[in-house]
Order: sequence, then structure tokens, then C-alpha cells
Amino acid sequence: MKVAVLGTQASGKGTQSHILSVIMGVQTASVGELLRELQNEDSKRGHTAKIEMAKGAFVDDDIIMPLVKDWVSKHPEGWILDGFPRSVEQAKKCESFFKPDAVLYLEVPDEDSKKRISYRRLCSKCKTNYNLITQPPHSPNGTCDKCGGELVRRGDDTPELVEERLRHYHEVTEPLKEWFAARGKLVLVDARKGIAEVAHEAELKLEDLFHRKARARRLKLWGLIFLALAVVTFAVLTITGYILNS
Ligand SMILES: [Zn+2]
Repeated sequence: MKVAVLGTQASGKGTQSHILSVIMGVQTASVGELLRELQNEDSKRGHTAKIEMAKGAFVDDDIIMPLVKDWVSKHPEGWILDGFPRSVEQAKKCESFFKPDAVLYLEVPDEDSKKRISYRRLCSKCKTNYNLITQPPHSPNGTCDKCGGELVRRGDDTPELVEERLRHYHEVTEPLKEWFAARGKLVLVDARKGIAEVAHEAELKLEDLFHRKARARRLKLWGLIFLALAVVTFAVLTITGYILNS
């Protein structure tokens, strides 16, 4: 089972990808994680990725495409990829190697997305992520549970940058919804609910999609068998008729 997970910022893509990967028993990764790994690689690609990411720019397809291709080919049994593709253009470019069975789309209105982002915190020392509502630190003085570091807002979570990312998302990423719907792969889930509820709904809807696909495949197979039988019967009757007439 191969699933791409899409959605706005703070729609819970990472969390849901991890839950689904446990349920389905397949590997999960996000493009961000793959890029961070690549940054540590002592290669030309690695250095370029590092420079682009430091600039805060969207990393070029020339780097992302081979990265995704490598990763999916390493997991032929199935995978869950969080945050890819980012645009219809990208989806078209990677059609030869990126073939998800389903695309899970987590929907959250902009206002909820902004609110969730305002609760995000990051440990200034060890970089562990927190959310003051869904994943608050347990230490009484509100510092990092792991290292006692101060929790701060992420540098790229300013209202202006959040707004800019949302605008870009609606313009570039959202059209993927229609694109995958037209291919019978879209699984839409309202991600405003709690983590467990969203995961449950996603699981049920994905199962439903796979059952429908399996049923369609079975019907097609039976159709072919009947067609083959009809052809054989027709041939036998024709030959028998020919022999009897001659
Ligand atoms: Zn820490």
C-alpha cells in the first residue's frame, strides 16, 4: 500500500503519517526529513540542498525528484510519504516512478491552521517540537522535557511567513486535490477533529478505497475470463458447424 499524505501546514500530516505507518506496517518519511538527511551527505547534491534550505527557499526539483525516486524504490512493499508532491507540475514529472495507490488529503481551514501554528514551540537547544495544546511539555516551568531548554516559536512561524505559505499552498498545492480525484485516488479527511478521530477516519476511508479497487480488479478479471470463454465457445461452434456441413 502506497500513500501520499497532503494537507496545509499544521494539518497533522506528520502525526497521521506515523500513525498510519504503524497500522499498515510500512515505512514513512517526509520530504523535509529526506532533505535534512541529504544535507548531511558529503556530496554535491548534499551541499546544494544545504545552501537552498539555509536560504529558506523551496528546494529545486532536480534535487527533490531523485531523492523521492531513491526512497520509494527502496520500499517496494509500500510506503507513506508526507508532503509530496507539492504541485500538479511535480506530480506530472514524477508519474513514471511515483505511483501512490491513494492520496490522503487532510483538510483544515486557514484559520485553524494559523491557530495551530501559533501553538507550535521548538526547544532552543535540542530542537524537539512541542505543541502547547496537543503535545505540551510536562515540566512545570514549561521548558523542554528532554534537556530543560527554553521553548521558542520557530523562526519561520511569523504571521507574515505563515500567510505567505498558505497563499502558496492554495495556489500551487491545492489543485492536486482535483488532479488525484480525477484519477480515483483521493481520500479526503476533515482534519479539524482530534488526532485519534482523524486517524480512524483516514484508516476507514483508505480501506474502503482499496476494497473498491480490489473489487474493480476482480470484476475486470471475470469480464476477461467470460470474454475468453465466449470466444472459445464461438470458435468451437463454428468449427463443429464447418465439420458437420462438409
Ligand atoms: Zn530540548
